[in-house]
Amino acid sequence: MQNIAPKTTLIDVEYFGHPQVIAPCLLEADGAVAIMDPGPTSAVATLKNKLNQLGLGVTGIDTILLTHIHLDHAGATGTLVRENPRIRVYVHEGGAPHMSDPARLLKSARRLYGTEMNRLWGEFVPVPAANVCALEGGERLNLGGRELEVAYTPGHAFHHVSYFDTVTGLAFVGDTAGLRIANGQTILPLTPPPDIDLESWPKSWQQIQAWQPERLFLTHFGPAVRPEEHLAELRERLEGWSVAVRESLKNGKHDAECAAQFAEQETTRLKRHLSERDAIRLARGAALEICWYGLARYWRKRGAA
Ligand SMILES: [Zn+2]
Repeated sequence: MQNIAPKTTLIDVEYFGHPQVIAPCLLEADGAVAIMDPGPTSAVATLKNKLNQLGLGVTGIDTILLTHIHLDHAGATGTLVRENPRIRVYVHEGGAPHMSDPARLLKSARRLYGTEMNRLWGEFVPVPAANVCALEGGERLNLGGRELEVAYTPGHAFHHVSYFDTVTGLAFVGDTAGLRIANGQTILPLTPPPDIDLESWPKSWQQIQAWQPERLFLTHFGPAVRPEEHLAELRERLEGWSVAVRESLKNGKHDAECAAQFAEQETTRLKRHLSERDAIRLARGAALEICWYGLARYWRKRGAA
């Protein structure tokens, strides 16, 4: 656990024993405790241990703030609500129905993860609709006097929101600002299916920049300094990927082959300016083959191939 600002604690859930992969964040205020993106159920035991160490436990949480409903961010929500039915869950209105009735969400995830699905993410317990508060963006949430601004930030997912904590200057951006490890200089976009949107994504970055945040908080992983440079590098990389995937659709090869080739080329690029270990960690963290499918789907929807 790491105190990253006053009353703001990063909790590393040590996904399958790996540090710095998934970071929920605890936000405390007078009489209010919120957790941002609690992570998947497969890591909920570690989350609960750490909440116990902080003297809070699951019963000490009263709010869950979700940036989006992907399983690595939101999967454990229902498990926590089942244990503490007092918890209110904030999520974009496009994601809200799927938290209570996850059949479609799980079907879409199963397409990506197949038989590995349960092992990777664990059980997804539905959240009673009465616990869910739908957001559209533009709200100001008051958590025990701690004010958070909400913005609608699609691009990675159509139902993605980001939160800005006016007191600490932290912008909680989920997967909108990509992935990086240990404040390293290499930033990768996260572009899984099904709803990557390259038109709305840059507008979401503008929204985030309009807050003039001091730091970005990435679920993968933790605080990132110099938001402008971070987003500029992300934009450049995403544009590069977008072109590469679009080109690969023209070569007549099978999808699996294109995806594997994309992942290999990108890993080779990473190895040029990172240690072998860090390059592999980043490549795995971004799930590069899945990223190819997300961008391929985007281009096909637009008739590119
Ligand atoms: Zn995501």
